[in-house]
Amino acid sequence: MIMKSCPNCSRENGGEAEQCEGCGTKFEGERGSPKFGDPMPMPHKWQFWLGAWCLVAIATLVIHPAYILAVPFFPVGLLDWLPHGEEKAIEGWMIGAWVVGWMIYVFLSMAMFAAKRTGIFFIIYVIFCVLLVLNVVGCQRVMQAASGIH
Ligand SMILES: [Zn+2]
Repeated sequence: MIMKSCPNCSRENGGEAEQCEGCGTKFEGERGSPKFGDPMPMPHKWQFWLGAWCLVAIATLVIHPAYILAVPFFPVGLLDWLPHGEEKAIEGWMIGAWVVGWMIYVFLSMAMFAAKRTGIFFIIYVIFCVLLVLNVVGCQRVMQAASGIH
């Protein structure tokens, strides 16, 4: 367990303590850096979740505004990372594999909103963001490959 030593009387307090048990000095400075076990407030979860999607939308608009029309099939971009990715992605688009992709995103989102601890939230959030980045890059490669066909 992490101990917090008081800046006033140098008494050792439990890591969760918000004020010194000896002299009552409040540990203000600690508040800015949330710990693994801290509860994650729901509004913060929404900020991070919506923030990730906003960045995806901005990235898509910057790459090619017309790609926003392909949004329903967005998860197809993940297939591009498989061997022969472009073919797999086009196949996946036709057989509706993007529905499975959306289910993964929904599952990860639900896990994030269900996570009580800040640390757990961020572990899932990192996986979520990595998938989004791979997905955006994958989409761009698929679109380039597809536009090369016609
Ligand atoms: Zn103290």
